[in-house]
Amino acid sequence: MSDHNEEGRPPNGRSLNVFFDVDNTLIMWNGKLRNHTEHVFQQLKEAGHTIYVWSGVGIRRWDMKRHNLDQYVTDYFIKPLEKHHEKLDALGVPMIPDYVIDDHKTVVDAFGGYHIPDMAKPDDEELLHVLAEIMEMAALPTLGDTEEPGSTVAIG
Ligand SMILES: [Mg+2]
Repeated sequence: MSDHNEEGRPPNGRSLNVFFDVDNTLIMWNGKLRNHTEHVFQQLKEAGHTIYVWSGVGIRRWDMKRHNLDQYVTDYFIKPLEKHHEKLDALGVPMIPDYVIDDHKTVVDAFGGYHIPDMAKPDDEELLHVLAEIMEMAALPTLGDTEEPGSTVAIG
C-alpha cells in the first residue's frame, strides 16, 4: 500500500513525535535488538515522523550507534520515571511526546502509546504493530481539535 507523496509524508497526516524506551523495548535482556527495529525506524522517518530515544538510565546515543540506528534518531533524552509530565521541563524535553513505546506501563499511561512486552519471542512482531498503530493515528483527524483558526494553544 502506498499512499505517500514523493516527500514521503502522509497526504493529510500529522507528523508525530515518537519516543522509544531502550531497555527491554528496543534492546532486550540479552543485548539483542528487538525484531524489526530498523525497518520501523526507517518507515517512521520516511512517513515524516520524528524519532526520539529516551531512557531512565541516561542518554543512549552510543547504544543506538552500536546498532546502526543513530541515523534515524533526532535526539536523546533522559526519561522521567515518575511525575512524567511535570518533569519533562527539568529534563530538557522540549515537547510532549505524542506516542511512547515502553515496557513500563506508567509511561504509556502518562503519554499514550504502546505498552510493549519486556520479553520478545524469536518471531516477535510487536514493533510492526507499533508502526501500524502510529500510521493509523497520524492519518486520523485530531479528536477534540476544536480550536478556531488563530486561537492560541498553550503548550507546557
Ligand atoms: Mg524499559
